[in-house]
Amino acid sequence: MSSYVIVGDGIAGATAAETICEEDSDADVTVITEEREPLYNRINIKEFAKGKMPEDFIRMHEKSWYEERDIDLRLNTNVWKIDPDEENVVLHDGEQIPYDKALLATGGTPRDLPVPHGDADGIHKFWTFVHSRRIRRDLENADDAVIVGAGLLGIDFAYALAENDVHGRYLMRGDRWWRYGLDEEGAEIIHDELRSVGVEPVFGEGVDRFEIDRLGQVEEVVGTTGERYPCDVAGVCIGLDLNTELTEGTDAEADEGILVDEYMRTDDPDIYAAGDVTEFHDVLIGERNINGSWDSAMGQGEIAAKNMVASERGDDLEEFSIVPKYSVSHFSMPFISLGSPTKGEEFAARRYDDKDYRRLAFKDGRLVGAVLIGNVRVVGQLTKVIQNGEKVEDRQDELLEEQIDLDAVAAD
Ligand SMILES: Cc1cc2nc3c(=O)[nH]c(=O)nc-3n(C[C@H](O)[C@H](O)[C@H](O)COP(=O)(O)OP(=O)(O)OC[C@H]3O[C@@H](n4cnc5c(N)ncnc54)[C@H](O)[C@@H]3O)c2cc1C
Repeated sequence: MSSYVIVGDGIAGATAAETICEEDSDADVTVITEEREPLYNRINIKEFAKGKMPEDFIRMHEKSWYEERDIDLRLNTNVWKIDPDEENVVLHDGEQIPYDKALLATGGTPRDLPVPHGDADGIHKFWTFVHSRRIRRDLENADDAVIVGAGLLGIDFAYALAENDVHGRYLMRGDRWWRYGLDEEGAEIIHDELRSVGVEPVFGEGVDRFEIDRLGQVEEVVGTTGERYPCDVAGVCIGLDLNTELTEGTDAEADEGILVDEYMRTDDPDIYAAGDVTEFHDVLIGERNINGSWDSAMGQGEIAAKNMVASERGDDLEEFSIVPKYSVSHFSMPFISLGSPTKGEEFAARRYDDKDYRRLAFKDGRLVGAVLIGNVRVVGQLTKVIQNGEKVEDRQDELLEEQIDLDAVAAD
């Protein structure tokens, strides 16, 4: 009987646990998480913060789900380190759990803003269910809020304000929202959407410091331009530091994320990694990639699990190769980020009307990602083009047609 220890009970870790049980009914599986609740839908905590979804709809697994599969679930438990010589996972209380294969599915930790009073009451990060409950509580009594971080997570915070009737100012250091994914024309569509729900984008503005009242509650943001923005709540959505620490003392290596190949193997033959925490060899773009999305985390968890079991048995391994989709559902029109739109070296974009836009990202002549606003019916065709990996740099016009004809894209 092989023992598998999984650190992290997010979608990557929980999917891995489920897959191991399916692949090897005799396996001894332990899942360890520092969170106080079993797997919930991290994507939907934004709907909870908006006040649109009750708690029960966010939960994915009850404790009984683990019991039914004979998985030893440890909640509120921090993994302190991995001891590769003894093949033990060491917990914060000193307990050691032996493994034949360990999976690091540890995700990331949202970054703090390193400015004076950056941790005052009323300043929120947005990553866990606990964060979401606090945000919702504070928004219920707020009038004004400020958001920092012009990316996909910041937009979730913006709509949490909007749905709670809180006036928002959205500070962006550059000249537009998500400048790595969109050009000015595409971003303008999103700026209009924000304004229409009472969130005002403020460009060329960062945070110099927060001002607090006598009780330590945030009351104002002082911008890097010197401008002051009163607020009862602030949302800091400036990205994640990936939780790579557990590779220390092992042969597994980490850069920004934990380095794994397309089979989710680290350099330590008994340690695998999956989900947001990985910096994986992406066969679709031919280089290392980091992908913070639900699809990718779930797919990596499944592949890592299959490969851990296969390697215990001496079987062939399976490669990870999916085109992730990240949908944003807050706007008055659909929005999808497909593949790796920020990895492009060359871009082609078209705006079809007020709320209809497409931007394509190419690398080495191949399509590697796209952002679709409005017409998302072409997602299937674009996914195929990314997956095929054919050189299509001279097919930009065909790929920007409102309806894509794949035969025309493939024609010589
Ligand atoms: C508000 C919000 C909205 C999002 N919206 C979308 C969306 O629309 N589409 C999309 O594709 N993605 C979205 N995402 C991103 C998506 O949720 C993540 O990419 C995905 O959940 C990552 O899963 P994971 O299992 O890799 O990591 P996580 O879910 O972060 O799980 C890692 C777990 O490991 C635990 N852990 C870490 N270190 C230790 C340790 N030493 N000991 C014990 N436990 C540890 C952590 O506490 C955590 O529970 C959103 C995320 C948020 C927060």
